[in-house]
Amino acid sequence: MTTGTIFSIEEFAIHDGPGIRTTVFLKGCPLRCTWCHNPEGQGFEPETMVKKGEKSVCGERISPEKLVAKLLRNEEIFKMNGGGVTFTGGEPLSQAQFLLEVLEKLGGRIHTAIETSGYAPKEVFRKVTDKVDLVMMDIKMVDPKRHREWTGLSNALILSNLETLIGSGKPFIARIPLIPGVNDDRENLEKTAVLLEGATGLQRVELLPYHKTAGAKYPMVAREYLPGFDTEIPPRLDTEPFEKRNIKTMIL
Ligand code: SF4
Repeated sequence: MTTGTIFSIEEFAIHDGPGIRTTVFLKGCPLRCTWCHNPEGQGFEPETMVKKGEKSVCGERISPEKLVAKLLRNEEIFKMNGGGVTFTGGEPLSQAQFLLEVLEKLGGRIHTAIETSGYAPKEVFRKVTDKVDLVMMDIKMVDPKRHREWTGLSNALILSNLETLIGSGKPFIARIPLIPGVNDDRENLEKTAVLLEGATGLQRVELLPYHKTAGAKYPMVAREYLPGFDTEIPPRLDTEPFEKRNIKTMIL
């Protein structure tokens, strides 16, 4: 039997897609972005977390049936405002089989969205994005060398999946975390805008400025926060590369 590993379910979320949503956080991510604010979501297995001296286990195994039952509890509320569920993480595509079963069992009864780094085998990416209503895809950096330096992995697969997504016409939101001195330069944003220009499914670009509190959870999972950039400098909030190409842009 397929089970998934999740580390949080947040109900009544309003920033993870349209309407009021339930956000499901799936555990495990192949990337290691130095600014990641969810270090407890990176490992694939449940792990010990210590919050204010209290020990707990972060990560719970759950069957698709049980998760679907939880999600459908709010079906009427979702219907009233066009809300639904957003799967995030970690990297939800790392648990694609589980996700596909959940989507299958939801059977289109509620709006579904996925927030992904785009790092997944092409076939997996295509299968899952085909089944959801909205894709929220992070685009961190276009330069492959810098991407590897700051996230631990090449972006070749991510950019290839972005191309597939654009080609499919599926509604999507491109999310860019703005990290000071890492990817907030004009050159990177211009290159990102060029990739997105003319994409018919693109609803908007969302810029997510880095926040100093990102490192808060590292001590809870016995890790040191080593961002590698100056966290005191605010990121550049540059929307021009997108707006001059008529791409709707929001700063969150
Ligand atoms: S892709 Fe997201 S979850 Fe994974 S390490 Fe980067 S910021 Fe964290």
